[in-house]
Amino acid sequence: MMMEERRIAAFGGTFDPVHTGHAEIVHTIVQNFGLDQLLIVPAHRPPHKDPRGIADAYHRYTMAALATLEEPRVIVSTIELEAPDHPYTFETIERLRSTVGAGTRLFFVMGADSFQEINTWREPARLLSSTDVIVVTRPGHDVKSSHLDDRFKCTVVDLRESEAELKMSEGANDHHIYLTGYVNTSVSSTEIRQKVRDGESIEGLVPPRVADYINKYELYRC
Ligand code: ATP
Repeated sequence: MMMEERRIAAFGGTFDPVHTGHAEIVHTIVQNFGLDQLLIVPAHRPPHKDPRGIADAYHRYTMAALATLEEPRVIVSTIELEAPDHPYTFETIERLRSTVGAGTRLFFVMGADSFQEINTWREPARLLSSTDVIVVTRPGHDVKSSHLDDRFKCTVVDLRESEAELKMSEGANDHHIYLTGYVNTSVSSTEIRQKVRDGESIEGLVPPRVADYINKYELYRC
C-alpha cells in the first residue's frame, strides 16, 4: 500500500506586521494544496532588506501567532529567529528538510514580487532544486517565469490556466514551481507602517487582534 505523503509549506518573510494579505494567503494555500501544516517563518533579519526600523522579532512573532489563532494547520516557526547565523532561505529549507523526514513534501510560499527577484537571493538554484515553490499573485507584480534558468522553466505549473492540474512531483528530487491566482490582495506591511505613523486607521488591513496589539504596544508610531 502506498503511504500518503505529508505536505508542509514554509512561508518566509519579515511580517512587519503580518497583514490580511498574508492571512488570506495561508488560508487558501492550506486549502488548495491540502497541506498538513503551514509554517510562517519570520526572518531574524531579512538579508535582502534594510534592517533598520524592523520591529523586534518577538513582536513580529506574536502578531503572526495572533493572526492565525483560528487556523489549526498554521504555526509560526522560530527556526530563523533562533538561528544564531541568520540563515538564508535555502539554508532554512535545508534545515527543515532534515527535520521533516522522508515522505514529506516541502513547499516554499512566496509572493509574485519575491519570485521576480529570486535571482538576487542567495543560491537561488539550490533553493529551487530543494523544494517545491508556490507563487502567489500580488497586484502590481507580474507573475512570469522568463527570468528563471532553463532547467527551472520547465518545472513551472501555471495553476491559473484552466487545464493545469495540481500534479505533485513523483520523486523526492523532482520539484515544481506552482503559479497560483487564488489571492489578489493589494495590502503591504509598508503601507500599514506608514498609516500608523500618519495616525490613519489600519482597519481591514490587519486582523483585528493585530490592530489591537499594534495599538497596545505602540508599534510603528515613529
Ligand atoms: P514590506 O511592505 O515590508 O516589504 P510585505 O507586505 O511585502 O512587506 P513580507 O513580510 O515582506 O510583507 O512578505 C512575506 C512574503 O509574502 C513575501 O514573499 C511577499 O512577496 C508575500 N506577500 C506579502 N504581501 C503580499 C500580498 N498582498 N500578496 C501576495 N504576496 C504577498
